[in-house]
Amino acid sequence: MESRKRILITGAAGFLGSHLCDFFIAKDYDVIAMDNLITGSLKNIEHLFPLENFEFHHHDVSNFIHVSGDLDYILHFASPASPIDYLKIPIQTLKVGSLGIHNCLGLAKQKNARVMIASTSEVYGDPEVHPQVEEYWGHVNPVGPRGVYDEAKRFQEAMTMAYHTFHGLETRIVRIFNTYGPRMRLNDGRVLPAFIGQALRGEDITIFGDGSQTRSFCYVSDLVEGIYRLLLSDYTQPMNIGNPSEISIKDFAEEIIELTGTDQKVVYKDLPVDDPKQRQPDITKAKKILDWEPKVDRAEGLKITYEYFQSLSQEELLKTDHNNFEKYIKH
Ligand code: UDP
Repeated sequence: MESRKRILITGAAGFLGSHLCDFFIAKDYDVIAMDNLITGSLKNIEHLFPLENFEFHHHDVSNFIHVSGDLDYILHFASPASPIDYLKIPIQTLKVGSLGIHNCLGLAKQKNARVMIASTSEVYGDPEVHPQVEEYWGHVNPVGPRGVYDEAKRFQEAMTMAYHTFHGLETRIVRIFNTYGPRMRLNDGRVLPAFIGQALRGEDITIFGDGSQTRSFCYVSDLVEGIYRLLLSDYTQPMNIGNPSEISIKDFAEEIIELTGTDQKVVYKDLPVDDPKQRQPDITKAKKILDWEPKVDRAEGLKITYEYFQSLSQEELLKTDHNNFEKYIKH
């Protein structure tokens, strides 16, 4: 019998990490999940604990990583990933993108494993090229509130490429655009949990700026499929994975209001510093090279995500007050 492939997933208890754990378990991999639980939650992966092909290591990957036995793949998905998180824990954000990836790459070299890093549309900053193609180098403010994330991710790409060219390591770089689905954190300040949380708690819906800024939201199962295809492909340059269906935040608020049936009013707040005005992935490469494109449209994905948030306990819902985040946002 052929032995199972072994994969290490960092950030495994987070939103994306936990969906990746589910995906690779379903594909019959041995999954080694690692997380320091700063922003992740064991609730996202506790259903996997009884499985013999799943193990969890409570560890901060910014420190030396030890994994015994062989490894075929490493997915480095550990990182705070919302503007509120970067402002609350900026140093950890920088460390996991720099020291964390260095440890992952060193481990991969030792195990002769293939590494994929979770990069981001934030490497494009507040983009002047629209939609964003992978060749665009970006427009990032290194010392702004998002700089700790954007620059860590840019460094992470550079480091990964250096290990690829210098050591011949097998590497993959996925640039992830806004993604949503069940297990997003209610209190991470992101727009989708913010709006749905506000609707469920009967609070006003807070639009930052005039709401003309755009985002393009990808449902999590589509993203995971794209990641899988990229991992198994031969492609070593960065690749965008996201849903090109672009919407303004104002229209997005309308969609959430309709979905939830809330009769709360919309209130306008100042736009945070360096908030990108537009964002939309060009996915020509993913279509051509991976034969991938998103399948779940926003209406369907939002319905599933809303049902998830509705299933949370009242206690969980009420302890989150989006307005409390105001103190972290730099306007
Ligand atoms: N946003 C908003 N109201 C909120 C939270 C976010 O209007 O209560 C806006 C935010 O300013 C940004 C967009 O929604 O323009 C997406 O924000 P998010 O934090 O989800 O992610 P980003 O794509 O900015 O990293």
